[in-house]
Amino acid sequence: MQFKDVIGQQAVKERLLSSAVKNRVAHTQLFLGQEGTGALPLALAFAQYLNCTHPQKGDSCGTCPSCVKYQKFAHPDLHFIFPTAGTDSVKKNPESKLFQEEWLGFIRRNNGYVTQSAWYETLGIGNRQGTIYARDANEIVKLLGFKPYEAKLKVVVIFQAERLQVSASNKLLKSLEEPPDNTLIILIAEKYEMIIPTVRSRAQLVKIPPLKKPEISRALLQRFPGKLDAERADELAGLSHGNWNLALDLMDQDDEGDYYFLKFREWMRLCFRGNDYVALNKIIQELSRLGREKQKRFLTYGLHVVHNSLLINKKQDAMVVARADEKDYLLKFAPFVNPSNQKQMYELLNEAVYHIERNAHPGALFADLSFQLADLMQLGRKAVQAG
Ligand SMILES: [Zn+2]
Repeated sequence: MQFKDVIGQQAVKERLLSSAVKNRVAHTQLFLGQEGTGALPLALAFAQYLNCTHPQKGDSCGTCPSCVKYQKFAHPDLHFIFPTAGTDSVKKNPESKLFQEEWLGFIRRNNGYVTQSAWYETLGIGNRQGTIYARDANEIVKLLGFKPYEAKLKVVVIFQAERLQVSASNKLLKSLEEPPDNTLIILIAEKYEMIIPTVRSRAQLVKIPPLKKPEISRALLQRFPGKLDAERADELAGLSHGNWNLALDLMDQDDEGDYYFLKFREWMRLCFRGNDYVALNKIIQELSRLGREKQKRFLTYGLHVVHNSLLINKKQDAMVVARADEKDYLLKFAPFVNPSNQKQMYELLNEAVYHIERNAHPGALFADLSFQLADLMQLGRKAVQAG
């Protein structure tokens, strides 16, 4: 990762670069920043710069053999320690060493902009917290005992240092205090007060502030050209409170909302027509593959459409919250949700959410639901025709 790939944070970059130029790089540093401010990307860009064999003014070269390895986060002298927990594949004695592949894939996919909760999701440990164990600390001490393999500096990045067990922290104190020559240890954390004082007093503090609104807005437009306009980028930047990951999440929700609208409309049209089994089967397959959380949100979106249709039928249009194209659709769809079928439609979608939560087979569920909804749409149509 180069500094140019790190969003904003000009002041921090300058400070890090100046410490390198003046040859005053502290051996142990604590990068402290809220989620989505880029603490890990900054650490990686800094480590890459320090190891670059042809550093440019203000950034690493990006092309020397060291940079090439660093760009993939896979350099023999770059080590990661992070919280882990028992999982399906590692049931006993979890530690960072056993999850390197998952970790590297995770930070590559996210270009270094990772969150603690996304890491736990990747590990598959749900709502449980991970820990940096004493065995991880032993591993660090062991790593530091060897000279760098090929780089100028051996770098150890400790992600979420507040998850260090007390026993792990104690084992690390000596290494943090007097690391061997040619070593850089970067602790990354969000909450200063959760790191034990003996650890934080041994590290030079690098504070990483929330990103500025224009920095997020600009980065969204640069990284996702054509996906959103300047106005929406500004809006998302404002809602994200300086947290790049939150801005991305909000953007994904936009996408998801769009998808649900388009898919639901298509699905209802097919149910309504009731004779294009090939197309209907295709959409059933697609919905079956969404994953349970998305299936639930999709069906909840369907409930929302039924609810809005009822409001429109009761001339309560003003209470309908929807975008222009969505509202347009609702106005056309609403008449077919009427007393002949509204209660059953509502119950059917509600029950489907219930069954998805209880691990129903999605293929069978969406097929069954489609045929029942098709019948209900026919009832609604007859009611409209009967006036
Ligand atoms: Zn280089």
